[in-house]
Amino acid sequence: MLNLVLFGPPGAGKGTQSEKLIAKYQLVHLSTGDLLRSQIQAKTELGLQAKTLMDQGILVPDEVVIGMIDYKLQENQSAAGFIFDGFPRTVKQAEALDHLLAQYNEQITVMLSLEVDEEELTKRLLLRGHSSGRPDDQNEDLIRRRVTEYNEKTTPVAGYYQNQNKYVGIDGIGDIEMIFNTISQEIEKRRTA
Ligand code: AMP
Repeated sequence: MLNLVLFGPPGAGKGTQSEKLIAKYQLVHLSTGDLLRSQIQAKTELGLQAKTLMDQGILVPDEVVIGMIDYKLQENQSAAGFIFDGFPRTVKQAEALDHLLAQYNEQITVMLSLEVDEEELTKRLLLRGHSSGRPDDQNEDLIRRRVTEYNEKTTPVAGYYQNQNKYVGIDGIGDIEMIFNTISQEIEKRRTA
């Protein structure tokens, strides 16, 4: 199995690169942000609770997203692999993911971290807000709140994968195809290693 963690702050290009990786490697896409947004749309209890936090740019509790990922792994046991997008966002989530994958004798192949500076992120997210309709992309204060949340709670996740020699930093500014080629090369290295 090929199990990728696509890492990086909001607006780094995780969604765009995920789409290309899924097409190339036939992976199942697990985006906790998308999963939460479908809960909101379906007006479930979980969705209503998550919305309050998401509207403030705050992370939802670990147990909630871990539970969603657990369910999706069970549901997709014959997959060629997974691409984790926007998850894990805390060290606790990263530990839980290792534990869940171990139940299937699986592990993370590599973490690909898209690196983009805050000014560029804000610019991209405000632009995305015009077309995506996502309320959390339309307000500059909220965008900065999400980036702060990322810097405080999510950055340590990179260290978690560095300790496992699975961290690869990728320059996330530039041509989408070029970034995709760099990512693909890193994946190929790990697959044949
Ligand atoms: P995203 O679509 O990944 O930018 O996520 C949108 C929002 O959903 C975030 O600002 C968080 O409030 C919430 N969220 C998504 N993924 C996670 C996660 N792995 N852990 C906690 N909160 C999350």
